[in-house]
Amino acid sequence: MQYENKPSKFTWEGLGDIGEGRKNMGPDMPVLVYRLFQYTLKDILAREYDEETACSLYRAAGHLAGTELAKNVLDLSGDFDFFVANLTNKLKELKIGILRIEKADLDSLTFTLTVSEDLDCSGLPISDQTVCDYDEGFIAGVLEVYSGRQFTVKEIDCWATGDRICRFSAALK
Ligand SMILES: [Zn+2]
Repeated sequence: MQYENKPSKFTWEGLGDIGEGRKNMGPDMPVLVYRLFQYTLKDILAREYDEETACSLYRAAGHLAGTELAKNVLDLSGDFDFFVANLTNKLKELKIGILRIEKADLDSLTFTLTVSEDLDCSGLPISDQTVCDYDEGFIAGVLEVYSGRQFTVKEIDCWATGDRICRFSAALK
């Protein structure tokens, strides 16, 4: 894809001083607003390109977000258990979802993890496809910054396919 050949202009500082800018409104907003933004943008991208491209672009944006969040928000100085505890706390604090590591093989670096009450999809109508492409990229980005290795993350269960949680498998690329 074309974006891969162009440098990212994203900076964490570019997100602004939210405390300064929203003195009365504060840093939070309803999940509805996040989803309205996310799913309208996805609809436009799917119509401008196609569904598959829209999902790929979401995965790429999630990857960038996971990478930047890991670099700017997470404490990467500890061992794997510390990393998971820190990540779990941050995802809860930021109201992204409740993370659980179901299986972890630290030799092969393969993981199965679940996110319940996921920001992107919990409560969505049931369809025949998983919808958390952004999360797939996000998780891969976080794991990559921590480990220095490249990951492929695939959502295998999703609220949108009838499960009550999202389940992701992660493995080295
Ligand atoms: Zn999902």
